[in-house]
Parts: sequence; C-alpha cells; structure tokens
Amino acid sequence: MPEQVDVVVVGMGPGGESAAAELARAGLTVIGAERRLVGGECPYYGCIPTKMIVRASDALAEARRVPGLAGAADVAADFGPVADRIRGEATADWNDQAAADRFTDAGGRLVRGEAVITGPGAVRVGDEEFTVAKAIILNTGTEPAVPPIPGLADTPYWTNRDAVAATEAPASLVVLGGGAIGLELAQAFSRFGTHVTVFEAAERLLPVEEPEAGDLVANVFRTEGIEIHTGTAVESVAHDAGRFTVKAGTVTVEADRLLVATGRKPNLRDLGLDTVGVDATGRSLDADEHLRVADGVYAIGDIVGKGAFTHMSMYQARIVTDHVLGKDNAGAEYHAVPRVTFTDPEVGAVGLTEKQATEQGIAVATSVSEIPNSSRGWIHKSGNEGLVKLVADTERGILVGATSAGPAGGEVLSMLTLAVHERTPIANLRRMIYAYPTFHRAVEDALSRL
Ligand SMILES: Cc1cc2nc3c(=O)[nH]c(=O)nc-3n(C[C@H](O)[C@H](O)[C@H](O)COP(=O)(O)OP(=O)(O)OC[C@H]3O[C@@H](n4cnc5c(N)ncnc54)[C@H](O)[C@@H]3O)c2cc1C
Repeated sequence: MPEQVDVVVVGMGPGGESAAAELARAGLTVIGAERRLVGGECPYYGCIPTKMIVRASDALAEARRVPGLAGAADVAADFGPVADRIRGEATADWNDQAAADRFTDAGGRLVRGEAVITGPGAVRVGDEEFTVAKAIILNTGTEPAVPPIPGLADTPYWTNRDAVAATEAPASLVVLGGGAIGLELAQAFSRFGTHVTVFEAAERLLPVEEPEAGDLVANVFRTEGIEIHTGTAVESVAHDAGRFTVKAGTVTVEADRLLVATGRKPNLRDLGLDTVGVDATGRSLDADEHLRVADGVYAIGDIVGKGAFTHMSMYQARIVTDHVLGKDNAGAEYHAVPRVTFTDPEVGAVGLTEKQATEQGIAVATSVSEIPNSSRGWIHKSGNEGLVKLVADTERGILVGATSAGPAGGEVLSMLTLAVHERTPIANLRRMIYAYPTFHRAVEDALSRL
C-alpha cells in the first residue's frame, strides 16, 4: 500500500532541502528523496569547494602583489591545505550525514534513491510508494554536460566534480568552456602553478555577460600567463600515456588534465513527468509565478531555467513553501537576477545586458566607468582591473541591468541589484552620497556618464 504523505521533495538541492525542512517544521509530513547527497551540487561539488579553491588562489595572488606595495614575499604554493579544507570543512569527505540529520531533526523523512512520478499525486522511490496530498516539489538540478567531441568520451576527463576532489594542482590543464565554472577553476589552478589553456567556442569569455566583462577577464588571464582561445571549437581529444591532446584547427595543446566545463544538462528525463502531462524534452520546465508546472507539482532551481544559482533555488523554494502553506506571496520576479563569477577581477552582474535590453526593444543608454581611473582603483594599484557598466531604460529613467567587475565586484553589485530590483529612478541614484574612496564610487561616475 502506498504511504499517504503531504509533500514529496524530489532532489534535495539547496532549495529542495530548505523547502523540505521548512514544510516539515510547519507540521506537514514530508518525504525528501535524494539519490546522491543531501544538499545537492553546491556544497559538495559546486559553490562552496570551488570558492574555497578561489579564496586560496586569491591569497596567493595577493601575496605576489606585495612587491611594489609592501616589500617582498616568497610564495610557495601548495594545494594541500585547500584540498584538506574541502575534505574536512566543506564536504566531510563527501558525506551528507550532517545535512540528512538536519532534515530529520526538522521532522522530515529522508528516503535515499531515485524518485519517479508515477501519476498525479503519486511518487515511487526505490520500492517505496507515496500518495501525495499537497505537493510534489521537483528540485533535481543538473549534471555536467559533456559535448560530443570526437575522442572525448573515451578519456579520463575531469568535470567540476573531479576538479574539487583534486589533491594537488596538475602541472598542466586544458579547460573546455569559458563560462563561470571553467574560468574560476582555470585561474585558481593557474595561480597554484598549473599551466592552463582555455578553449571557448564563442567569440568571448563569459559569453552571456557584457562583452566588456569578457574582454577584461581575458586580458587579466593573459597577463597571468593563461592561454586563451576564443572563437575556437575543439575538434578532437585524445588521451595517451597519461597526457591529453586537444586539437582545434591549427592549435594543438597537450596537458596532464582536461576539465570539461561546457554547461549543464537538466535532470528531467526519467522523472515520469509525462505521467502528469509535463513536457520534459526541453532544457527547462515551464513554471508559473508560484513555480507550478502541473496541478500539485512544483519545480525549483536549475531546472526552471531562470538562472542556475543557489540563490535562485533558495528564492524559488521560499515561494513554493509559502504557496503550499497558503501564505501570502506575490510570486517570482526575474527582472533583477544577480550572478557573480568569482574570478579576479570578480564579475558581478544583475538584470539585462545591453544586448538583451536592446533585443527587448528597450530604449537603451549605457555607460562605463573604469576602476583603475577611480581614486580607489589608483590607490589599490596592482590587481585594480575592473569596471562598472550600467544599462538604462531611458524612457522609464531606471537601470535595467548592470555589471560590476573588479576587486569585490560581487559586493559592489549589491547596490546595483537593489537599484534594478526596486526600479529606483536614476535621478534618485544621482542624488545619493557615495562614500570616498570606495570601489562603488564607480557607480556614481558611471551614472554621471549616462
Ligand atoms: C562548479 C560549480 C560552481 C558553482 N558555483 C556557484 C556559485 O558560486 N554561486 C551560485 O549561486 N551557484 C553556483 N553554482 C550553481 C549551484 O551549484 C546550483 O545552482 C545549485 O546547486 C542549485 O541547484 P538545484 O537546486 O537546482 O539542485 P542541485 O544542487 O543540482 O541538486 C539536485 C539534487 O537532486 C538529486 N536528484 C536528481 N534527480 C533525482 C531523482 N530522480 N531522485 C532523487 N534525487 C534526484 C541530485 O542527486 C541532486 O542532489 C555552481 C555550480 C557548479 C557546478
């Protein structure tokens, strides 16, 4: 006989874990179904371990900036401490017991295994069947997408999951993909002494962001000795005697390791979505403002296609939780989605890029302020590369997008996120006082150029 429950959460990524615990704490009977690790990609393979590597590599870069600013520093990079931190502090050696206990302590029941929807209000996890009274919440996330490059599938390539488990920095590394994941790891390993080559098929790095941001990062990477090939599709990969050979046109690169960071594929197939009338053949699910994809079925996180970020997963979880509990919630808004690429310079962005705004028919004006030309940038000296770019809707007199790249670019982004989210009139932003000498004064300068 199926067990009667209120809620089944399929996939316990950041949003799923949070919604499941919240609903259990509210007194509902909640099953959390997870086939791998409670917490999902972010704590074990994504945000947290990669940012630990980035933090360590930034420390190396800062130490190397001591000459010219503060004397001399001998830097001997060692990946050991960060590898230990990832095992000890971040992932407990990829053991989710603490997260599983947190959920159980909140009153939920964790069922380990692959969950499948078997019909309206019906879910099977392994050999357990559930009849669901209130909500099935899908939070199944994504897997690394591996492109069909001849030879690649037969090689021992890395994805992010292998890269964060590295115990030492390889001598050389080829990175396929010039998006956030590829670039963060490329620069971090390079700062640990790895010779890194990046291939990106698009014309620029960070192709979904402003071209100025991609160019900025490419210039800094090249200065740091990272080889960059943009507009270059890799044609073949081979692995022989412990070495990778990567070919793209006239370029051939050999390396000890190869990281595939060419995007993510959603975990939508084999979920039984057809049994509730949901099309699972696309890259994401079509959800309404309360994240419903069918009667009694909600989706949150990467599979909704509104931004593959932990903060998006948590944001959507809050909306679903409120909706299931009958609390007031106006629903999701996506006009001010912030995102940060944790390279150095750190690239924060919110809302629309100039291209996206133009494509939407908005009357666009833009302006750019360069961080090295600001007082703080000049004081900062080495490592001061960065810019603030604003995208304004001139008819409404508001910002619809912004990019903040540079030292603490992701932190400077906060005020721009607020401005875009609240549709603050540009006239009001111009009237504000900006503390001297901060990096965020570049926002004031960019406003004066709009
Ligand atoms: C290298 C890397 C770095 C990143 N850095 C950042 C960052 O700095 N900031 C940021 O905001 N985001 C970052 N992200 C993205 C972030 O990790 C994801 O957006 C985040 O994990 C939210 O994903 P999610 O909630 O959709 O689900 P996920 O975290 O992908 O979790 C989904 C869970 O569902 C489980 N599952 C799937 N199918 C089933 C099934 N049928 N039955 C049972 N369980 C199932 C999976 O095992 C998994 O545990 C990074 C991602 C990567 C790969």
